[in-house]
Amino acid sequence: PAALFGKRGNSKGLDLTDPLAFGAVELARARYATHRWQAHSLIPGGGTAGAGRAVINPANHADTVGTVVEAGEPEVAAAFAAAKASGWGDVPVDERAGMLRRAADLYEASAAEFYALLAREAGKTWADAVAEVREAVDFLRYYAEEAANFAAPPRGPFVCISPWNFPLAIFTGQIAAALVAGNPVLAKPAPQTPIIAFRATQLMHEAGLPPDALQLLTGGPEVGGLLTSNPSVAGVAFTGSLPTARRIEQSLAENAVPDTPFIAETGGLNALVVDTTALTEQAVRDIIASAFQSAGQRCSALRILYVQEEAAERTIDMLKGAMDELVPGDPWLLASDVGPIIDTTARDKIEAYVSERQDRVMHRLSAPPSGTFVGPAVLKVSGIEDIPEEIFGPVLHVATFPSEDLDKVIAAINASGYGLTFGMHTRISSRVKKLARQVHAGNIYVNRNQIGAVVGSQPFGGEGLSGTGPKAGGPHYLPRFTTAAMGLQQR
Ligand code: GLU
Repeated sequence: PAALFGKRGNSKGLDLTDPLAFGAVELARARYATHRWQAHSLIPGGGTAGAGRAVINPANHADTVGTVVEAGEPEVAAAFAAAKASGWGDVPVDERAGMLRRAADLYEASAAEFYALLAREAGKTWADAVAEVREAVDFLRYYAEEAANFAAPPRGPFVCISPWNFPLAIFTGQIAAALVAGNPVLAKPAPQTPIIAFRATQLMHEAGLPPDALQLLTGGPEVGGLLTSNPSVAGVAFTGSLPTARRIEQSLAENAVPDTPFIAETGGLNALVVDTTALTEQAVRDIIASAFQSAGQRCSALRILYVQEEAAERTIDMLKGAMDELVPGDPWLLASDVGPIIDTTARDKIEAYVSERQDRVMHRLSAPPSGTFVGPAVLKVSGIEDIPEEIFGPVLHVATFPSEDLDKVIAAINASGYGLTFGMHTRISSRVKKLARQVHAGNIYVNRNQIGAVVGSQPFGGEGLSGTGPKAGGPHYLPRFTTAAMGLQQR
């Protein structure tokens, strides 16, 4: 089924090299350049009271994208009550899947608004925005298709907590899986990106998903805590930081029934090994994309390049030259390659990290003065053990290794405890096999970049500190949202 989906199902998105496609870009610009949205919780009979907090554009703090009113304890309690009374689990699976497919069509029809929101609320470049709408549409259609392959009773109210770095795709993917499996959903988007979640939820309602089966709760960690500590929670899907994942797991252990599914995708200290047989131009192109696309704000992003000593000079020289071609800037402009960091807190953390390591900076671009930009940086390290934590931004570490130390490199990567993505550029096939077998990582990429896993053909997720699995966009994801493994009867 996954292969079938890949052949006929992946969304085509928008080809930015096609002159006609500029029509869509211009439409988004004209309509939504100064639009102000108003977001709030979406629960049956409420959620709109209060003045709201301003949501600002990370590339330009003078641009207010809109306002959001955040949920509190009464909304969370009401949402659980409505979810439990929804009867969603009794709706036939074909009908549930049909609603997801209609939502996918509505997403495609609303692409211009989503592009604008992805740029202005989430700081996404056009290329990233186009890819993100495609991925969201793919998740809807893929899980709709997968749902027909197995039938197991649902769990009950699912809490879906999504990140700001994929505010449409991951938000939608978690919800689509939980809903099509028959669970009512309480979705809490990241506080940085509530507006796009609000619009996506409205479209899903328009596609037929009932307002008590899909509810939106806006807010930060307090609202997340109220949701995950509620004794009625029957499962949690979460993408975000490791400390938050640990808090949620603790809360489920204390408050929920045993074996409540916790589907977590966290971070990574993702490595790439480049040896002397690599094609330098190709390796450098993929390093640039993996480390700096989305300003490095992807869990999958490359954090440490291990380059074999004899290839180091040519690879690093070319890398510096390629970096100099990158344009950090307002993602609203087509010419920008590297957008802003999501907010001031995140920006300050990255800047502090780099300035504490001034003596190790091998190359650095300057950043635009407006908004929260960080100039992409390359830092010299002796190995992954020199990196104290995941730095969520455009900071690439580089280490060199002699050929005979490859086993030590593998051991060091595994000792980090993370295991999300891993890349290699080598043309020795025995080495490909060895690295793929020995490095612990959920997604392994050979002679290509290591970001942008494609729904239906590259299920995405990690092991160890990087997450619990099952991988999103693959055949093992949906069963975890049901009681399939418990051997219960289909009602
Ligand atoms: N699925 C994305 C990718 O392959 C990363 C998701 C994330 O950053 O959470 O690049």
